[in-house]
Amino acid sequence: MRLILLGPPGAGKGTQAETLIEKLAIPHISTGDMFRKAIKEGTGLGKKAKEYMDAGQLVPDEVTIGIVKERISQADCAGGFLLDGFPRTVNQAEALDHILQEMNLTLDAVINIEVPKEKLVGRLTGRRVCKTCGATYHLIFNPPLQQDKCDKCGAELYQRADDSEETVVNRLNVYEQQTAPLIEFYGTKGILKTINGDQPIDQVLGDIGKNLGRNWA
Ligand SMILES: [Zn+2]
Repeated sequence: MRLILLGPPGAGKGTQAETLIEKLAIPHISTGDMFRKAIKEGTGLGKKAKEYMDAGQLVPDEVTIGIVKERISQADCAGGFLLDGFPRTVNQAEALDHILQEMNLTLDAVINIEVPKEKLVGRLTGRRVCKTCGATYHLIFNPPLQQDKCDKCGAELYQRADDSEETVVNRLNVYEQQTAPLIEFYGTKGILKTINGDQPIDQVLGDIGKNLGRNWA
């Protein structure tokens, strides 16, 4: 099965990806892993990507698309794959269509995990870190016994700047703006599966299964 997984930060995409690849016996292809692999193996495109990354520049689409093509042509992708973090733009999605056409393949589904923005903000701003020992907590998922105090050493907890509401809302807005055209693109093709991510992890997984014609809930 050839799938794309979409979802904003905090939607639990990583957790779902881990289980999905196990259930479907397909490799998880995240953009970061793919780049690291190409660079490690020293492929021509890997070397090119490294040049851009070392210079602190964005890797251009043609290089990224080439790396995707190299990766999905490998033997372990014969039975399908789960793409995560690619495509990011309609341009990349069109290039992916083109690659798959050349290989005589099609995408089976694009899974889009949706969670209301206010819930995501709660999940993404809840992290607290101990000033002294660095222990981390989460106000929703792993709260300290005493408010704002470290269970281990009693020191004060603080919120990192990255986790502030302003930064988080900004990140979510950027994601939304970037992904909206992609969602429309796959919606028009009729392969978009919208999943309610605001439910327990097992139920989200069950819903994904139903949308793929699998009953594994
Ligand atoms: Zn501590």
